[in-house]
Amino acid sequence: MPSLSEKEIIDTIFAPLAQGSKTALGLTDDAALWVPASHRDYVITKDSLVAGVHFFADDPPSAIGWKALAVNLSDLAAKGAEPEAYLLAIALPEELPTEWIREFASGLKALQEEAKCHLIGGDTVRTPGPLTISITAFGGIKKNGFVARKGAKPGDQIYVSGTIGDAALGLILHDPDSELQINLSEENRAYLINRYLRPEPRIRLAGPVGKFATAAMDVSDGLAGDLNAICVLSDCGAKILVEQLPLSAAAQAVLDQSPGLLSRVLSGGDDYEILLTVPPRQSKDLEKAAGDVGTAVTCIGEIHGEAGAGVTIFDRGQPVKLDADRYRHF
Ligand code: ADP
Ligand code: MG
Repeated sequence: MPSLSEKEIIDTIFAPLAQGSKTALGLTDDAALWVPASHRDYVITKDSLVAGVHFFADDPPSAIGWKALAVNLSDLAAKGAEPEAYLLAIALPEELPTEWIREFASGLKALQEEAKCHLIGGDTVRTPGPLTISITAFGGIKKNGFVARKGAKPGDQIYVSGTIGDAALGLILHDPDSELQINLSEENRAYLINRYLRPEPRIRLAGPVGKFATAAMDVSDGLAGDLNAICVLSDCGAKILVEQLPLSAAAQAVLDQSPGLLSRVLSGGDDYEILLTVPPRQSKDLEKAAGDVGTAVTCIGEIHGEAGAGVTIFDRGQPVKLDADRYRHF
């Protein structure tokens, strides 16, 4: 089958993802027309993924589509914003089959339906280089409702959504070059790999984050390093307790065999959970509001006033040191 032209790709594969949006004009014009609501502020974010850097080129295309949008929607949720629309730029290697692009779009569609937002425009080009995807997402919040990384106060309780470390352990299991031998049930293995391939952005937590958080961010580079970013910007320090970390049964099964992988749980990336700080008097209200939208949050520690102290970690009273070579995203 001859490969589609860029226009045919837009018309047949991407335009269906714009259906239902007035802004997108069906992807038939030069640009989208966005009329922002006057009573809202808008949060804008962009994340790019490059084959061989942020995903394996032979990962399922639908998972790549899902993840490309998920990492952006996660940033919006961390700021308390609800997704409205996104732009997609994609650079396609010449040899990529049309079926790949279709499946990629099906991953986008699955998540945009969950998130109730639309594709409103973008750019489609060919490249001699690796497949590259860049998404810009727009989310709405009430006026002055933006939740910054800066704003944590001494005494605030530190919370994290869902479970931590799954994606970093999933990446180890998924990586064909990994030499680690771990005995796991098929179910646990599939669960962890799926958490790496298809992170679940915590879209429904946007409301509770906007209402209760003094500071928030999503965990993309690792819990310890990301919490440190909140500390630096908020001029404070943080103490977290390993025994309080929310771990999935699958992650626990890995740690039972390889306790040394705790450092990956604390400093590995890609979970896309939300990390937030809340005044102690509001912690019960946060827990209830999060439960009401179906996403558990767990208290893992406390903010203190010692600026420059960074993040200190204790495991049953013993301080924990992390490997210096923690994984970082760029
Ligand atoms: P031009 O080259 O005149 O800028 P294009 O042919 O690139 O226009 O795009 C035509 C329309 O299709 C525009 O509305 C653009 O936003 C949209 N579009 C192009 N590529 C994508 C894409 N990957 N995803 C969504 N919309 C796209
Ligand atoms: Mg044009």
